[in-house]
Amino acid sequence: MAYELKHNLDPKCPYCGYEDNDAWEWRTDEAGIDGSGITKCGMCSKDFKWFRHVSITYSTEAINTPTQKGGESEDKEVKET
Ligand SMILES: [Zn+2]
Repeated sequence: MAYELKHNLDPKCPYCGYEDNDAWEWRTDEAGIDGSGITKCGMCSKDFKWFRHVSITYSTEAINTPTQKGGESEDKEVKET
């Protein structure tokens, strides 16, 4: 049986398919949260290598929204009546 091993929310043991949801505790070889390491499966006790993919995104929001500029983008659709 083949397991889906890539980009899972929880790392999956490549041998038995066990998903470890305590993986946030795993320490990487390098510094930082992104990285990889080797861990022992909690189910079948085999060692496997894991890679942690971290993606950081940013969102922004205006704190002060002065509306005197003629409502360029957002207000256009709303005020069409
Ligand atoms: Zn296993």
